[in-house]
Amino acid sequence: MRPKAHVVTSVIFFLPVYMFTNSIIMSFLFCLTQVLVDIDHVFDYLFFSKKPYSLKKFFQKGNPLTWSNVVFFFHSWEWVAILFGFCLNTKNIFAWAVFGGYFLHMAADEVINRITYKILKIDKFYYFFIFRCINNFNIDRICHDRNAFLESMRNE
Ligand SMILES: [Zn+2]
Repeated sequence: MRPKAHVVTSVIFFLPVYMFTNSIIMSFLFCLTQVLVDIDHVFDYLFFSKKPYSLKKFFQKGNPLTWSNVVFFFHSWEWVAILFGFCLNTKNIFAWAVFGGYFLHMAADEVINRITYKILKIDKFYYFFIFRCINNFNIDRICHDRNAFLESMRNE
C-alpha cells in the first residue's frame, strides 16, 4: 500500500483504537507506527536509486521498482514476531500499541500489495527479511515478473 493509504487507514483506526484502549497515547502510537513502517522505502530509495534524489518525486510515484535491490528492512514478519514476543513477556501496553500498528501495516501490505501488484508476481515469502537476505535483496529473485510490471508502468 502507498504511504497515503496507510495514513487513511490510521485515521480510520484512530477512534476505534482509542475506544478500545481508552488511551490517546496508545491510539497515537498505533497510528504512528502504522504509517512509519514505510520509512524503509525512503532508505532503499536513497541507497539504491541511481537517479538524482527527489523525495518529492518519490512520494508522488511510490516505489517504481526501477532499481535492482530492495531491503525494505521494516517490512518483515520476523520483526513483528519478535515484537509480539516482547509484548507477551513485558506486558507493556505501549509496546502492544506499536505491535498493533505494525501488524496492521504488514497485514494490509501482505494482502493489498499482492492484489494491487499481481502482475509483479511477488514471492509468497517476500515479506520475510531472511528470504530477501538469502536472495541478496535482488528484486528479480523475490518478485517473479518485474519486466511485466515495468511494462505496465510505462503504459500508464
Ligand atoms: Zn508498507
